[in-house]
Amino acid sequence: MTKHIFVTGGVVSSLGKGLNAASIGLLLEGHGHKISLQKFDPYVNVDPGTMGPFEHGEIYVTEDGAETDLDLGHYERFTNAVTNRDCNCTTGSIYYSVITKERQGKYLGKTIQVIPHITNEIKDCIRKLATPETDIVISEIGGIVGDIESQPFVEAIRQLGRELGRENVLYIHLTLIPYLRAADEIKTKPTQHSVGMLRQAGIEPDILICRTEKALSDEIKEKISLFCNVDKESIIEEQDVKPYIYEIPLLLVREGLDKIILKKLHLHSNGSRLDKWLNMLEILKNSKTIIEIALVGKYIEHQSAYESIYESLIHGGISNATKVNVKRVESGDIEKEGAEKHLQGCHGILIPGGFGERGIEGKVEAVKYARENKVPYFGLCLGMHCAAIEFARNVCNLKDANSTEFNASTPEPVICLLEEQKDIEKMGGTMRLGAQPCKLESNTIARKCYGQEIISERHRHRYEFNNKYRDIFASKGMICSGLTIDNELVEIIELKDHPWFVAVQFHPEFKSKPTSPHPLFSAFIKASINTDSNISQKNSI
Ligand code: GLN
Repeated sequence: MTKHIFVTGGVVSSLGKGLNAASIGLLLEGHGHKISLQKFDPYVNVDPGTMGPFEHGEIYVTEDGAETDLDLGHYERFTNAVTNRDCNCTTGSIYYSVITKERQGKYLGKTIQVIPHITNEIKDCIRKLATPETDIVISEIGGIVGDIESQPFVEAIRQLGRELGRENVLYIHLTLIPYLRAADEIKTKPTQHSVGMLRQAGIEPDILICRTEKALSDEIKEKISLFCNVDKESIIEEQDVKPYIYEIPLLLVREGLDKIILKKLHLHSNGSRLDKWLNMLEILKNSKTIIEIALVGKYIEHQSAYESIYESLIHGGISNATKVNVKRVESGDIEKEGAEKHLQGCHGILIPGGFGERGIEGKVEAVKYARENKVPYFGLCLGMHCAAIEFARNVCNLKDANSTEFNASTPEPVICLLEEQKDIEKMGGTMRLGAQPCKLESNTIARKCYGQEIISERHRHRYEFNNKYRDIFASKGMICSGLTIDNELVEIIELKDHPWFVAVQFHPEFKSKPTSPHPLFSAFIKASINTDSNISQKNSI
């Protein structure tokens, strides 16, 4: 029978529930178990796809094309689980489903209520992941216990505890033990209150993971144990880790969390195998070479807006035993002060995905700088659109070239909408989304990186390279190195006369893992290391 772990959070949000759920997944996989991970988000949007990066951070795209919360990115980076649209549910998606059924007459004669209809729907979403192949489903409840909007989720997991049997269900609560500098004390009261709220809702947590700046003394652990009614050995200390989130699983192992989970869920172990992870951490922490990559974007002050890209750059560094520092450059600053000021000295330049006209001209200038100065360039989705616009304008002499996303009446639409996208008015889930196969031309950088002809990558966009410009681009040295299987859509462009200039229509950052870096990120970092001989050799990080 599939076991269930529910991860809730208390005191404040942003404690890293997603990273902890992912870390627990990694540890349990290490013990030989097959796991699935899932996130519930209490907001009313059906999915985060319609939210901006300021509101929500990165939108993570799954193989099957769901636009989801960025925690699913952590799940895939830490574990072997492959997420799909069943792995991220929101209050909005739950209600949408219940209301659709109500309109179809599926509850004919009944009054539809939060309990049992909404809670049943939530439980169905959890049960859906409990396939015969899955040993353990880890479900994370977003937000914090006590929020009005998370109540139906907390109630649903309480009900499941009774229905599945307490021996098959584990409640892990992530909480904060704040340190008061003035008093030089750490405080357990907020945790007591938050666990109190869980208990009022009918849930006795089995394990507390305590985020803390300072070590928890025995005395503090005893106090938490007494007031929260949790075994002392199940009070797990988690001190802040910096700079690498990939160290979190090790903190949890040191506290014996994996053994406690196995014991409480009556699960066996094949012996803990974390060698691959440990080797990766070893390389990450001991890399001496340091390079600087400029990421030119619009949301640079938010770590989470480009989460998967920042991580993928680190992964590319791991495969080259190199530490990658990211210089976050606001594209608007390039518009005001020129590219040179912000990009000079960088070993590589990356332009991420994005939407809307703001900041585009600064990005196009950044591409020009990379092309002319032979600095390795990696364009992702919008970063490919900017590369095409720049090449059309400055090499093909099509001065007014643009994407119809930014100028609907441009005379040279190098990037434009496909016919089938033109009449779409609905906003949610209507882009070209999810994994699609791509064919790589031989003798190209792309083909060399992947080492195979057919690849699959995830998409999230509406606009495409305009085929009308393929010939002129090729004649000037920008080749299409990746195409859809039917040759209809351009997926990768690359420059011939340049050390490394590759721009892709898809999002490779969603498939990179620290233990299996994406080939394009590895190659981009490798090329960037070779950019100049002035790479700073430092003795320690
Ligand atoms: N705005 C562009 C489009 O919709 C690019 C999207 C992206 O970068 N993800 O096609």
